[in-house]
Amino acid sequence: MAEKRDYYEVLGVAKNAEAAEIKKAYRKLALQYHPDRNPGDKEAEEKFKEAAEAYDVLSNEEKRRRYDQFGHAGMGAGAGGFGGAGMSMDDIFAHFGDIFGSFGGFGGFGGGGRSARRVNRGTNLRVKVKMTLEEVATGVEKKIKVKKYVADTHCHGTGAKDGNSFSTCSTCHGTGQITRVQNTILGAMQTTSTCPTCEGEGKIINEKCSHCNGEGVQLSEEVITLNIPAGVADGMQLSLSGKGNAARRGGVNGDLIILIEEIEHPELVRDGNDLLYNTFIGFPEAVLGDSVEIPTLEGKVKVKIEPGTQPGKILRLKGKGIPDINGYGKGDLLVKVNVWIPKNLSKEDKKTMEDLKERSFLKPSNVENKKGFFRKVKDFFE
Ligand SMILES: [Zn+2]
Ligand SMILES: [Zn+2]
Repeated sequence: MAEKRDYYEVLGVAKNAEAAEIKKAYRKLALQYHPDRNPGDKEAEEKFKEAAEAYDVLSNEEKRRRYDQFGHAGMGAGAGGFGGAGMSMDDIFAHFGDIFGSFGGFGGFGGGGRSARRVNRGTNLRVKVKMTLEEVATGVEKKIKVKKYVADTHCHGTGAKDGNSFSTCSTCHGTGQITRVQNTILGAMQTTSTCPTCEGEGKIINEKCSHCNGEGVQLSEEVITLNIPAGVADGMQLSLSGKGNAARRGGVNGDLIILIEEIEHPELVRDGNDLLYNTFIGFPEAVLGDSVEIPTLEGKVKVKIEPGTQPGKILRLKGKGIPDINGYGKGDLLVKVNVWIPKNLSKEDKKTMEDLKERSFLKPSNVENKKGFFRKVKDFFE
């Protein structure tokens, strides 16, 4: 998965840029990289799409707030519908009314035919990917096999025999739309609608491709390599633009949406970017101090228990948690020290405890600064 550029950087505006500034910056880029000005230039097309995606997010108050807070990761899950995926050209042109004015402005490009001709869009493909916490911590490359529609190779996705058996629609002369002039009491009114003969495609298939029955797509299996970044969480969605189903008759591919499913760790509990672990020590170890083995995502580590450790003490292992998905450092591993109180005692054990009970150093009356102790316990449960 290609690393996405920061949306503010894409538009060349400051983080606190005002709406008008963002609009102006996008307008400039859209004009510069517009496909009609850069025919066949893939790089310009990518730049054009990138700018449109950045504008789509930064021009929407709610999306912008989410992006500011969570970065690109925040654009995946949940609301908005626009799952951080690349936008289709259709979406982009649909938004042009907003920025160039509904009529005019862009009329000069492509003679107005482009925005009217309908482009088929393939459906999105959804795949669940299970990840262990170890994989979440490092990021992982996964190969997944998906069944999806791809362009039929026999007709190059056109649906026409040998990929060339079609002609320009005679109803709309290839524009995909028809214009009607109606006389009303207010004078002549011009209306534009999708051409019914070619359904807006601008061309008619003379002889259908027999391999795909004129659909231009065939079902196929593909192995896709996913580069899942470190720090993802259960329920997060990642979108791969254009990796979904192919559209009928040479349209735009849908997206591949990856839903992250976290496999529960046998010992560690995840809490945001931190990990939690309960360790149990005996009463004498709490008194005398000890060394315990703690599981981490990179294997076991030895941790020292200080003499006189109180039950409930939290030890913080810095940086042993999960890396932040937006690169803001790493979480910690918090170890709660529990002191095990034995329940089933033999006669001999009981005798030992009875003897200990009489020893004055074990009396709770020895607790110094009781208030301070409580404050500490409260801190432990923050
Ligand atoms: Zn037509
Ligand atoms: Zn075909």
